[in-house]
Amino acid sequence: MAITKVWIEDGCIVCNACETTCPEVFTVTEETCKIRAEVRLDGQQTPNLEERSALSGTIGKELADQIQEAAEGCPVEVIKFEKI
Ligand code: SF4
Repeated sequence: MAITKVWIEDGCIVCNACETTCPEVFTVTEETCKIRAEVRLDGQQTPNLEERSALSGTIGKELADQIQEAAEGCPVEVIKFEKI
């Protein structure tokens, strides 16, 4: 399994759980969670809700389990992803 895209829907409560689980991909700011620029093809650091940028390189394969774990652990279920 590989995750191709990950994004954050509206409603993040900035609890930090996802960053604890997978700090390579998620960074939590004062207002919301964002997908780190370093792991995105478009190089932007946003929730990736509008852009839906793909993950770069082999990140989506290497960190698939951690991303899925972070999504399952999000208390408000706003972490969404696509996989192949
Ligand atoms: S786990 Fe969910 S609610 Fe918590 S910071 Fe991450 S995206 Fe936001």
